[in-house]
Amino acid sequence: TVAAHILSIAPYQPGKPISELAREFGLDPAGIIKLASNENPLGMPESAKMAIAQAVSDLGRYPDPNGFELKALLSKIYGLPAAWITLGNGSNDLLELASLALLGPGTSAVYSQYAFAVYRLATQARGARHLMTPARNHGHDLDAMFDAIEPDTRLVFIANPNNPTGTYQPGEAVTAFLEKVWNTHGERVTVLLDEAYNEYLDPELRFDSARLVERFPNLIVSRTLSKAYGLAGLRVGFSLAQPRLTDLLNRVRQPFNVNSLAQAAAIAALQDKAFLQRTYELNRDGKKVLSSAFEEMGLEYVPSYGNFVLVRVGDAARLNQALLRRGVIVRPVVGDGLPEWLRISIGLPEENARLIDALKDSLAER
Ligand code: PMP
Repeated sequence: TVAAHILSIAPYQPGKPISELAREFGLDPAGIIKLASNENPLGMPESAKMAIAQAVSDLGRYPDPNGFELKALLSKIYGLPAAWITLGNGSNDLLELASLALLGPGTSAVYSQYAFAVYRLATQARGARHLMTPARNHGHDLDAMFDAIEPDTRLVFIANPNNPTGTYQPGEAVTAFLEKVWNTHGERVTVLLDEAYNEYLDPELRFDSARLVERFPNLIVSRTLSKAYGLAGLRVGFSLAQPRLTDLLNRVRQPFNVNSLAQAAAIAALQDKAFLQRTYELNRDGKKVLSSAFEEMGLEYVPSYGNFVLVRVGDAARLNQALLRRGVIVRPVVGDGLPEWLRISIGLPEENARLIDALKDSLAER
């Protein structure tokens, strides 16, 4: 028999791939736009493509199990020893590793309503209790999250900015929360600060997470190369944490969890400042365009700090179908308890324009 906690899991619903929609609706894949998975609309940087081409000749060998070069680069970028860094097969891997190392039956994890769906899944997979706190203005209520910590709580997940809502907690609020958790619970409660969308923040809003990791021995910060660095298909992420926690993650990590191409591409992408800047600007401008279009259409939306916007369309299931028929893939967030909302990733200017037209047409259909 299968354990009840496994059967309780509702599997993650990813965005529909372009090929699948093309087959289902008999559409030309070239005419489909996908704004469903918060990917980088610029695709992969050329610098990373070149690095991959070079790395292909070594694919007969296993990847570097410890990611020596990639960690050395990250160590330089963040000003932390390599022994504080863990590489992951996407940052999802790090969420899983933290859950594997810290959770199990008889423990619990705290996360917010409308937070990234994987927090609940990873907790359930470990047979731990999940303690979900109500959101405040669609975002994390850090006071409620602190109060939700129980004697058996081992892990608290925070997404900043959050997906799917795009909300953001400023550095002072996060620091105050970390201080309270550390002073009250010490090493017993680990906080996983998931910063998958950090690079999309306006520069004045960014805070120095590496310095927080130096200050709080119970903190894991996770980052990804799937979003702003344009490497979603390669699966690479990393975490920063003090050696005690990094060692725990390393104990449950698969030896070759980040493949050779991903390591090579990540090294190139992390150094490609021009690509990152273009990505940031494109996103900032596109977000303005989508937000003003939603305003003009009288649609409620959550001001976003990420590379997507959550917008209230009413009957989201119907709207989603109408958009799919027009070759536009967005993301319903029904599973997250937001049945009237769609999450729309920021695209290239022409993709944003097409989305806006398709949304207007679809709304007029009713
Ligand atoms: N955290 C958040 C908040 C996310 O939105 C995502 C991507 N959907 C991830 C982590 C995981 O992304 P990846 O595994 O590609 O790094």
